[in-house]
Amino acid sequence: MGGITFTNLTRQVEIGANCYCLDLAGKRLVLDSGLHPRFDGEAALPNHRLIEDGSADAILLSHAHQDHLGSIPVLMRRHPGAPVFMTEATRQLSDVMLHNSVNVMTKKRDEGITSYPLFTHRDVEKAVRQWHPVPLHTRFDVTGERLRLDESADVTIEFFDAGHILGSVGTLIRAEGRTVFYTGDIQFDDQTIMQGARFPEHELDVLIIETTRGDRPTPDTFTRAGEELRFADAIRAQFDRKAGILVPLFALGKTQEVLAMFHSFRQRGLLGPCPIYIGGLGTKLTEIYDKLAGKTPRQKPGLQILDAVAPFTMAGKAAAATPLKGERIYAISSGMMTEKTLSNSFARQFLSDPAHALFFVGYADPLSPAGRIRAAVPGDLVQLSPEFPPQPLKCALETFNFSAHATRESIRAYVNKVRPKKVILVHGDASAVEWFRGTLAADLPESEILTPTPGVPLEL
Ligand SMILES: [Zn+2]
Ligand SMILES: [Zn+2]
Repeated sequence: MGGITFTNLTRQVEIGANCYCLDLAGKRLVLDSGLHPRFDGEAALPNHRLIEDGSADAILLSHAHQDHLGSIPVLMRRHPGAPVFMTEATRQLSDVMLHNSVNVMTKKRDEGITSYPLFTHRDVEKAVRQWHPVPLHTRFDVTGERLRLDESADVTIEFFDAGHILGSVGTLIRAEGRTVFYTGDIQFDDQTIMQGARFPEHELDVLIIETTRGDRPTPDTFTRAGEELRFADAIRAQFDRKAGILVPLFALGKTQEVLAMFHSFRQRGLLGPCPIYIGGLGTKLTEIYDKLAGKTPRQKPGLQILDAVAPFTMAGKAAAATPLKGERIYAISSGMMTEKTLSNSFARQFLSDPAHALFFVGYADPLSPAGRIRAAVPGDLVQLSPEFPPQPLKCALETFNFSAHATRESIRAYVNKVRPKKVILVHGDASAVEWFRGTLAADLPESEILTPTPGVPLEL
């Protein structure tokens, strides 16, 4: 029986630019190829040079978030013969995400990052045309050939719903009698739109699993329903004092979840008919959620989000200069309030104004502008962007947990159920990975719990 080699192509142990290489049964698969949100140019790319150009047999894309998708066109240029597989929803969402990314990189080029854009609109069009969408629970080989139940191949691949955002999958790879499962990003619990992950429950040989939330326990008293009520109450309390609320969120996934939540608040009489604003990218991506509503696994398949919530779209240069008004919700991206994004520039009006409020609803890299604000206390000076002087934090600030990532308890329970012989921990900051390493080593003394050093091949 041949061996399996896993190579971590990220540059550091963190959630930056995910990309992993798997060699098995004489085939080479590359799992995801992201772009780091905080770095620019070459430093934002995974370490593609660690594998020989042209050597990949197939590229597998777990979902359309930038940290998994953002450098796929660059990877495709290095491996022009390798087909790229994903779900149909991921294909459509990625198309919008990558074109947006070209626009962002083109702006950065004008500011002096000469290696940008890493690819053009034409490259994206060409790339997306070559992609191979594959339905869930369908076995296929590295060329994309679908396999009947009685057929097998050296390497077979099958997608499972990961419950994280529309189109997200975990990928089961079978080769020479062994099973490898790459989770991508997972949520095991139901969100407002997405239903929890439906993953294989049989025993696995190798499990490559995300560890985003390993750094903190979930309080026993936490329920999503309770958190939703707390969110609705907090919005009403701010509206009672005529405040406007800025909710910075990811355009893909969190925007659609939060809009669906607002719809449910209105249906339950928890929220009045206030104006809700979203960004241009959020609108385009929500259109895809609506278009695919009955065709992908999700809750509320009858809900057309844009019709039901009727948000206003803020777009272009004028958006950041839109005067801030009370009793409105500005649910705009980016979630981490990255420099030059709408939420970052709009926050300049919010941050130092005690009459308004800033609500966080998801993960933020601690070194991002949103991370810096979350770490600050009232009165602290916070720098939103190097272009502008730091501002005192004076607005009301609240944090809610509507994570699209699985709790560490649910991931631990899953690993204990499938009892992998080897567990490879990825997609987490060092402290998160460390909690899983220690905990899983104690839970499964027969298993190897591995934290792959970037760039060092692991023989499995
Ligand atoms: Zn993700
Ligand atoms: Zn991710």
